[in-house]
Amino acid sequence: MMNYPLTTNSILKRAKMLYGKKEIVCRDYNGMFRYNYARFYERVCRLANVLKGLGVQPGDRVATLAWNSHRHLELYFAIPGIGCVLHTLNLRLFQEQLIYIINHAEDSVIFVDQDLLPLLEAIKDKIKTVRHFVIMSDTKEIPGTSLSPVYSYEDLLDKAPSQYEFPTDLDEWSAAAMCYTTATTGDPKGVVYTHRAIFLHSMACLTADMMGLSERDTVMPIVPMFHANAWGMPFTATWTGTKQVFPGARPDPMVLCQLIQDEKVTLSAGVPTIWMGILQVLEKQKFDFSSARGFINGGSAAPLALMKAYDEKVGVPIIHAYGMTETTPLVTLSRTKSYMDDWSLEQQYAVRIKQGVVAPGLEIRVVNDRGEDVPADGKTMGELIIRGPWIAGEYYKNPEKSKECMGDGWLHTNDIVTIDEEGYIYICDRTKDLIKSGGEWISSVDLENTIMAHPMVAEAAVIAMPHEKWDERPMACVVPKPEYKDSIKEEDIIDFLRDKMTKWMLPDKVIFIDEIPKTSVGKFNKKELRQKYIPGKA
Ligand code: AMP
Repeated sequence: MMNYPLTTNSILKRAKMLYGKKEIVCRDYNGMFRYNYARFYERVCRLANVLKGLGVQPGDRVATLAWNSHRHLELYFAIPGIGCVLHTLNLRLFQEQLIYIINHAEDSVIFVDQDLLPLLEAIKDKIKTVRHFVIMSDTKEIPGTSLSPVYSYEDLLDKAPSQYEFPTDLDEWSAAAMCYTTATTGDPKGVVYTHRAIFLHSMACLTADMMGLSERDTVMPIVPMFHANAWGMPFTATWTGTKQVFPGARPDPMVLCQLIQDEKVTLSAGVPTIWMGILQVLEKQKFDFSSARGFINGGSAAPLALMKAYDEKVGVPIIHAYGMTETTPLVTLSRTKSYMDDWSLEQQYAVRIKQGVVAPGLEIRVVNDRGEDVPADGKTMGELIIRGPWIAGEYYKNPEKSKECMGDGWLHTNDIVTIDEEGYIYICDRTKDLIKSGGEWISSVDLENTIMAHPMVAEAAVIAMPHEKWDERPMACVVPKPEYKDSIKEEDIIDFLRDKMTKWMLPDKVIFIDEIPKTSVGKFNKKELRQKYIPGKA
């Protein structure tokens, strides 16, 4: 066979060749922006010339601090396209983390959305390697800023040549993008995505039993483009010339509903908080979601109650998927198999609530603490380990963590899961969130999901509290729906759980709070809950 490099330029080339007329839409600062893949390609060429003009060299890290937008999409292709590395900065990080990752990656240029300028201004004296700042907005004007030197994105593009010959001989093993994960304690860890990884990951996403994207779809990634490349959607969708809709700066659930309706979105992706927010809007106001064929949920488990509400009230299935920053990120996706069509609805839900089956191209195992495979019985818990062509083999400049997590050729996920005889994975918990009670493990996720099915409950997170006899016992932190704020009682929750879970799994304590703190990528922040409600534990 030919030695053909698997690079993002091949994705870009196909979009240019076949889909010039297809649309890309963005909710820009002053209204909707619309163009097509032909115009997009031209702007990516201009951008490549701009980057060259700024003096970046192959291998340099070029960062973005940006919302989901068409400009961000242009950067997704221009930066790797010329051999540089797209470093997407998480705009919700604490200042110290942002400083750390910019310095650790040694970013040379930062492209920043105009409304996010203050985030950089506050840390400008501590980021040593950045030589240029490019401000992205829908005008050529540069707002007053203490950053220097600064340029306007639109101005630079306007002045740049519209042609660019993208190299066809980039090394597929070279870095195309990178993203830091802040999931655990300690400094953020960098994950580098090679061209080859993005190419093969996109191919797997395209398969019908995974995301199954086609030219006829309209996708709207709600998951941020700074979080594991918006789960790869922008790369995948560009390959198939799929219409892409970008929600822009600070989209709220109402904006998202409007976009799904107006742009006739067929497929979207986000974390459960997003789907809960949208559901709350839909309970008050009618929107036409008839175009949608599925909403992909990942990042955290989708509660069954949420899944059922979408089936019954919205008419759009929630499709469960699982992955990590370290896995580009798709690992599993949950669709029922053809012969399950004959199963009862409840049996089908029992499958759909799981995180799904492994994507073609990857290998997974579920192992106990001696490294032995646990039985595929849907009951025995073990750690999920993964290997494959889009699974990180190391953390960027972090040999210690790399050895700990990928040292034996498998990525150790720290996710405690079961696998059933059909091959479906169910994520029971993160290792550190499991409640270890008298030698037994209680899944905080199971408890949360069951509590969130209570009609008076909006959200619930379960954490471990220390116990003299049992070591740890579950404590539920519950956010009631506003109308039940003053009337809900601990017994309401415990009574509701009694016939659904075994007795020793019931929480020892239920507290009612106004809000569950969220992490920078929108997941329940259990560390903060532990710090707040269980002093001495984080
Ligand atoms: P991140 O790297 O921030 O995307 O976080 C990855 C982690 O999120 C995984 O290791 C899981 O613990 C969790 N996660 C991702 N998807 C799911 C899901 N569908 N259900 C439950 N947990 C998930």
